[in-house]
Amino acid sequence: MKTTKCPVTRERHEQRLRMKRLGISVLSHGMLLLILALALSLDLLTDFSLVSFTLFTLSAVITQGAFWLLFQSGINLRFKDPSLTLWQISIAVSWFSLLISQLPEIRGSLTLLYIMVMLFGIFQLSMLEFAFVGLLSLVCFGGVIASDLYLRPDEVNLKLSLMQWLILASAQTWIALFGSYVRRLSERLKKQRHVLQHSNHKMQRANEELEQAMEQLDEIAGTDELTGILNRRRFFEECRLRLENTDQYQASALCMIDLDHFKKVNDRYGHQAGDLVLERFCQVTRECLRGSDLFGRYGGEEFILLLPQTNQDSGVQIAERIRLAFEQFSFDEIEPGLRMSASIGVTLHRWGETLEETLKRADQALYQAKSSGRNQTVYISGARSINRALTGSRKVSRE
Ligand code: GH3
Ligand code: MG
Ligand code: MG
Repeated sequence: MKTTKCPVTRERHEQRLRMKRLGISVLSHGMLLLILALALSLDLLTDFSLVSFTLFTLSAVITQGAFWLLFQSGINLRFKDPSLTLWQISIAVSWFSLLISQLPEIRGSLTLLYIMVMLFGIFQLSMLEFAFVGLLSLVCFGGVIASDLYLRPDEVNLKLSLMQWLILASAQTWIALFGSYVRRLSERLKKQRHVLQHSNHKMQRANEELEQAMEQLDEIAGTDELTGILNRRRFFEECRLRLENTDQYQASALCMIDLDHFKKVNDRYGHQAGDLVLERFCQVTRECLRGSDLFGRYGGEEFILLLPQTNQDSGVQIAERIRLAFEQFSFDEIEPGLRMSASIGVTLHRWGETLEETLKRADQALYQAKSSGRNQTVYISGARSINRALTGSRKVSRE
């Protein structure tokens, strides 16, 4: 998608365009001088001397050089129209009129060049400015005829000169009308482009907002409402992705956690107290985890953990850290001194096996932790089912 340019870049781009237009003007002056040099060398011009040619060349160099300096220094930017088109055309018309006043032999064909000069301003000048330069060229050309009448009345064919003036006047009128039409057309195009850019911009913003909303929705859809951790569906999605991208040399541990005698909290203190226990358990657990670990709610008071790049020892260590931190947490908000505990089953994911198979082993380990008296971590090896109870059975919950 095309983006809008920043003001500084746009200004630099426009200044470069102005320089290019000045290049066209310089080229036109050069072409005309070349034609004159050719006519001079072929002895086609009687009244035009090499001195006059040099003077005209010099004046062209000075005027074009002055414009180059204005653009180069950026002084042109202080003007209302930084392209200085009106100035360039007015000076070109005056210079050109002076030139053709010296060239009666080829004047008829050279008047065409007035049109060329006018075309230079077709995208830049307003209708009024066009009328002004048109009038200026007619006045200048009228001046040329008048000076002919004054300087060489015998050589002047007045009817022909007036005819040339009239042809020029009608051509200028046509160009002024056509120019204003072209200008209006380009302004309309500019406006349409602006509207298009604006609506593009709006669409882009709406797209971004939509993407943000989708991301938020996705996050909500994958979050457990009560605890703020991953819900079961999102946990398994993410877990599968992680395991797919794990190679056989990187072990990952899976832990199933179940709060002990949780139902009693509900029964004794109400469901709100039960909810609070679930929230606090998640807070305590989060503090024991690394940023790369996945933590989800399996359902009810059961939780699940994926610990990437974790071997048996560190897997058990993390599980124990969680178990101990939770065991030491005091639920004074519910009842002063109330403590809870959790049982944890740990196993390693075997490379190539399905998540369901790993999960089944973690569940077996949890079952063993429960049946061995709760508040303990049991590890079941992925390779051979060697069970290892790490802590003794501890009855922690208050009855
Ligand atoms: P055990 O030590 O064997 O795990 O016993 P337990 O009481 O923790 O387990 P049990 O499966 O008997 O009871 C779990 C209870 O958790 C039953 C259910 O009503 C309650 N529960 C499930 N989800 C929520 C919840 O979101 N909030 C609350 N407050 N209670 C919940
Ligand atoms: Mg349970
Ligand atoms: Mg339980």
